[in-house]
Amino acid sequence: MEAAAPKIAGKSIRVRFAPSPTGPIHVGSVRTALFSWLFARKYGGTFVLRIEDTDKVRSEKRYDDELLQGLSWLGLDWDEGPEPIGAGGQLPLGGERGEFGPYRQSERTEIYKKYLRQLLESGDAYYCYCSKEDIEAQRQMMLAQGLPPKYGGHCRNLAAPPEGKKPEVIRFKIPEIKIEFKDLVRGKVMFDAALFGDIIIAKDLDSPLYNFAVVVDDALMQISHVIRAEDHLSNTPKQILMQRALGFAEPVYAHIPLILNADRSKMSKRFADLALLNYRERGYVPDAMVNFLALLGWHPKGDKEVLSREELIAEFDIDRVQQSGAVFNEEKLDWLNREHIKAMPVAEVAKLAAPFFAKHGITVLDEVMLKRVIAVQIARAKTLDDLAAASAFFFAVPEYEPKLLIWKDSSTLREVAEVLAHVRGVLEKMSADDFDHETLAGSLPVIVGERARGVVLWPLRVSLSGQANSPDPIEIMAVLGRNESLKRIDAAIKKAEA
Ligand code: GLU
Repeated sequence: MEAAAPKIAGKSIRVRFAPSPTGPIHVGSVRTALFSWLFARKYGGTFVLRIEDTDKVRSEKRYDDELLQGLSWLGLDWDEGPEPIGAGGQLPLGGERGEFGPYRQSERTEIYKKYLRQLLESGDAYYCYCSKEDIEAQRQMMLAQGLPPKYGGHCRNLAAPPEGKKPEVIRFKIPEIKIEFKDLVRGKVMFDAALFGDIIIAKDLDSPLYNFAVVVDDALMQISHVIRAEDHLSNTPKQILMQRALGFAEPVYAHIPLILNADRSKMSKRFADLALLNYRERGYVPDAMVNFLALLGWHPKGDKEVLSREELIAEFDIDRVQQSGAVFNEEKLDWLNREHIKAMPVAEVAKLAAPFFAKHGITVLDEVMLKRVIAVQIARAKTLDDLAAASAFFFAVPEYEPKLLIWKDSSTLREVAEVLAHVRGVLEKMSADDFDHETLAGSLPVIVGERARGVVLWPLRVSLSGQANSPDPIEIMAVLGRNESLKRIDAAIKKAEA
């Protein structure tokens, strides 16, 4: 049965994520998307994705693609979108999730045009004829008079267009009043609009700018709560003034804290390595990423920090979002990644890790073996990429120098050959079924015999892994099984004898 429409203070919950596709999608933006998504999911509301691509020069298709890929990777699904023809302004509410593409502002020019005309007709907006040079000259004059620089209103009350001049932009008349609103994170916020000057809202009727398009869309898309990063706080009073001029309802605002580097400096959007998809490439799993991003500026009630998606949805609320900046700590991400990988069923890890095995040139022929490898490696790996890289030797022994078989200069290759022959003798008597961790561990005293442990276990481990660092030989043999283990020991004996 459908749940009744969710309401907070009489409003249905409708939130949006409104990224601009002008660069690779950044973890900071995804955090904004996640907070909106969690809020929508918690209250059974609607999560809208609106791509703000009005900047024709800086918006690029590849970034738009990356955005959709990134959100899909994290499972941040959106609930509605435009009808295929776009621009109709219709809201096909109630569609199946994932059935629609996102809204794109570039497909809604006609809608913005209608409201630009409305503002021009009501006198709340006007054409400005001032050229760049005019503006600069006006600015210099204001500075010389000790006034804060803003557009001085030269074209505000023109009786007729100035002779020989073309309109440069459309400006919105900002009244000289104080604007106050209640922000769910920051509490009461107040701005003096007298400091703004009349802002540009469009280059022309076909080219609206962010502050205007956002007002029209938030209203037509019936957005109840605008959850966005704190750097938009000073845009809010401007948007509220336009809402008033257009007779639109005012959404509730929640400005979430900035994300800071470890040294508390502001994290730049341009940091290429903070692109979301880099984290996918590096082998972080979606649940860990979601968990990590949720904790950037928000905290659950208890101490528990490793949270599943369901737990995050249940626990999330705006009133636990902090005001101060949120420090981005990659070590915490590594820790969460490991915790989430450890908690996952091995088959699930195998599925997620498959591309990383391929990347490291590992052909996985044996699924059972793969699951055993993962079960052993999970506890060590920080990322799926690490896991795959560290597992290559299970599938093929790397080339190694015979002298690697020698434990700390304490023996000779001849002794190594003898030791391995002895070990082989013990293992040979065991059946394939005995090659489990417990039985092998039980046979350790016999395997080691009279010699020092290192003298036996080092060459055994190297013969199995071909490398200086690896899990212990018992663990490796339990994964490899009897045949492959004996084969590798034989090869090592040959190497030592050669
Ligand atoms: N397109 C804006 C941005 O990417 C959206 C801001 C908002 O949420 O209103 O920053």
